[in-house]
Parts: sequence; C-alpha cells; structure tokens
Amino acid sequence: MEFIDESLICSLLQDETLKDQSLQNEIIEKAKEAKGLSLKDSAALLNISSEDVLDNLFSAARQIKEKIYGNRLVLFAPLYITNACVNNCLYCAFRQDNKELIRKTLTLDEIREEIEFLVGQGHKRILLVAGEHPKKSSMQYLGDAVETIYKVKVNNGNIRRVNINSAPLSIDNFKVLKSFGIGTYQCFQETYHYETYKTMHPSGPKSDYAWRLYAMDRALQAGIDDVGIGSLFGLTDYKFETLAMLSHAFNLDKNYGIGPHTISVPRIEPALNAPAAKNIPFAIDDSSFKKIIAILRLAVPYTGIILSTREKAEFRRELFNVGISQISAGSRTSPGSYKESKESLKEHEMEQFQLGDHRSLDEVVKDCCNLGYMPSFCTACYRSQRTGDRFMELAKSGDIGKICVPNALSTFKEYLIDFASDGTSSVGEEFLNEQISRVNGTTNSKIKKMIERVENGERDVYF
Ligand code: SAM
Ligand code: SF4
Repeated sequence: MEFIDESLICSLLQDETLKDQSLQNEIIEKAKEAKGLSLKDSAALLNISSEDVLDNLFSAARQIKEKIYGNRLVLFAPLYITNACVNNCLYCAFRQDNKELIRKTLTLDEIREEIEFLVGQGHKRILLVAGEHPKKSSMQYLGDAVETIYKVKVNNGNIRRVNINSAPLSIDNFKVLKSFGIGTYQCFQETYHYETYKTMHPSGPKSDYAWRLYAMDRALQAGIDDVGIGSLFGLTDYKFETLAMLSHAFNLDKNYGIGPHTISVPRIEPALNAPAAKNIPFAIDDSSFKKIIAILRLAVPYTGIILSTREKAEFRRELFNVGISQISAGSRTSPGSYKESKESLKEHEMEQFQLGDHRSLDEVVKDCCNLGYMPSFCTACYRSQRTGDRFMELAKSGDIGKICVPNALSTFKEYLIDFASDGTSSVGEEFLNEQISRVNGTTNSKIKKMIERVENGERDVYF
C-alpha cells in the first residue's frame, strides 16, 4: 500500500511554501495546458484561501472542462438491487447492525419493472448498486440482473450501458463480471486514511483496507478497463483524502497506462441508524467541496467526474461549471423505489426534497438546456470498444469532441422525440438546433445526417 504515502501527504500539507499565492496562480496557469498536476501542485491548490485565487481556479477548471468535454453532461440513474449487507460501515443505513432497515433484494421481475420505469423516463445508462452479501448479491444474481436489464425495451428505448458499484472481487470473479457486458466497475475506497478506515469499517469483509485498495488493480488485470474510484467525503480531512485519492489515480496510470475512467465525490448524507452520518467526523462546507472538484479537474483532466443527486439542485448547477462531466438524475436509493415512487410520486418527493436533488430526469434535462449544458445519453464508446487506453488516447488527441458532440446530439434528439414532456421538448429542440449551428465543416453535415436518421425512426445512431 506504499503508493498511499501518508507521511508524504502529511508533509505536503504542512509545507508552508505551498501556501504562496503567486505559486498557486502559476500552477493554475500551467494546469490550463490540460496535462495534469503533480501531488505537490495539488497540495498547493488545496491550500488556496484567497477569493481571487479561488476564482482563478474555478475559471481554469471551467476552461479545461470545456476544452475536453465541451458543454456535455452525461446522464445516468442508479439502480439499487439489494440492501442486504454483511458489513457494518458506520455511515451507511444498509449496515448489518441496522435492524430497523427493511431488507429487500429485488427479484428479476422486480428488476425488470424498475428498468421499465427508468427506460420509460428516457435513461440509457444504469449504475447497478448492491450491498455486499455472499448469497443475496452473488455473482449469479449480478449476472442475471445485468442480463435482465439489457433485455428491457420500452418505447424505442433500452439500457445500453450497465455500470456497477459493488463489493471488490477476486480476479477470477472480475473476469466473470466482465463477461456480463458491464461498462465501468466502480468501488470507492471511502477513506484512504488507514486508521479512519479501520474505525469506520469495524467488521465484515470490507474491514480489509488492502483488499479494497487493490480492487481496481484486480479489475484491470481481469480485463475490465474502465474503473471508477471515489472517496466518501466527510470521514477524514478533505485535503488528505483528495491527495490520497489522487495518489491512487496516479498509481493506476503508472502501472496500467490508464488512470481511473471516473472519480466520484459523494459527501456523507443522513442515513438511518448510521452514527457517522449523524455526527459527520469532518463535514465539508460547500466552498471547500467546490474547490475539491475544481482541483480534481485540473489534476486529472481526462477523468470523468461524477456528481450524484446527494447534492441539492441549486448547488449541483454551480458544480457543473467547475468540472463535473457525469450526473445522476431522477434517482432513488432503495431497492424497488422507482416503481413505488411512480405510485406515490408527490408524497415521496415532498418527503425527500430537503435531502438532495429529487427532480425527475425530464426536469433536470430542461434545466441543463436552460443553463447551456448539453444532456448526453451517449453510450457509444463502450460499445465501439473505445474503452481504457483507446478512450484515453482519443481524449488526449483532442478528437473525442468530433465523436462525442454528434453522439450527444443524436442521443439527445432521440430523448426529445421519445420521452420529453412538451415543455422540455420545446426548450430542448431550440437548444439542440442552436448547438448544431455552432458546429462547422464536415462534422456539421454528419450531425445533420444523424439527426435526420433519428427523425426517420432509426434509434441508437452513433459513431
Ligand atoms: N456495498 C458496496 C460498497 O460499499 O462498496 C456498494 C454499494 S454502497 C451503497 C455505494 C456507496 O454508497 C458507498 O461506496 C459509499 O461511498 C456510499 N454511501 C454509503 N453511505 C452513504 C451516506 N450516508 N451518504 C452518502 N453516501 C453513502
Ligand atoms: Fe454495505 Fe456498502 Fe453500505 Fe458498507 S457502504 S454497509 S458495504 S452497502
């Protein structure tokens, strides 16, 4: 575990020379070349306290995001298939010692019903989420779940990419997982601080720090080449956590020639009978959280940064501007709750509104358009085998935009025709046409042809 060098990280965080504002501004300038940052540079940026330097940081993050991803925001929804769990993570309601939680593992029929709801909303990407349980979330069950999801078809729509967030596996089981046709494998270290990790995970397989830390190495060795890492912010000092998570990303890049495909930045939310969610050990204010996201965008420019609906709508809008590239929308976080919420939508939304962003996909899509972000339902890279180093090469060459822009626009057109409400459809069509007119040359004519094919009834038009 030597690549998470706690003493190096602590010494960087204590280095007074890294608090110098002109040094911080120089690093921000250098970062605009989109070649990433060192750990030391990132430590200097975490020390920013001046409002002016912070503004420079945010503006650089926006520029880099626009250079690499344009104004696109990829949309997805999580699907919780089981909340059975043998671990005892102190921040999670699913932990084994929480006897008040009603445990539920979806049957394949229930999974199909949940997916019918999500596809009916217009989703094309799912993040499958499961507690850790030898029987309830077995490999067989995960495989059957993925197969069930890919089979669902509603109103011209279907799920085209299933990512998965589940417990770490052995190399052999990662090979099995890959054979199910999953996209990204996600697993968050939660905290990279060893002592904090031990306290937060008192029992169960998850109490093994190293088994979890090396999950991505095993996944990559098994041939899953899109992996997603993350930290659960609030468990320890955010500066330590950010530098440790970056150390993980740099180490994957060094050893496998590709860094993580995505980084997730969940913050601890209230959870039933979860002591660390009630008294958050290192709660982070919004301003520091925004700073973390901007620094990640500068440090690993080609890595997708995912923001979930844990954050409130208003704040999410602000974060899109500093480097977020993927967002969940219209999410529910307990097994079976999409179907349930369809039946009692109002009640459900009123009850949970305070906790985060509980708007429907349709509302989020409309909001994105109004804010100037192009909602993308594209899943082309994964299905065209542009994963791992092939994706990174393309992204670094600057050519990804020539592929992603047309794909984003054609999948958005599909969404508008098949799923948008009248209000979203009119806002969306206007936005789409304006976006098409911004593209020049041959790409413009390619886009128009793709849109025409979608208008003529073809679906899943991409390259
Ligand atoms: N059981 C698997 C695991 O722990 O890796 C995957 C599912 S778990 C529900 C997915 C993620 O939810 C965890 O990795 C953790 O970061 C996040 N999570 C747990 N409790 C949370 C809370 N109270 N607030 C926000 N995120 C939380
Ligand atoms: Fe189980 Fe994952 Fe929750 Fe921990 S975070 S209790 S492993 S579901």
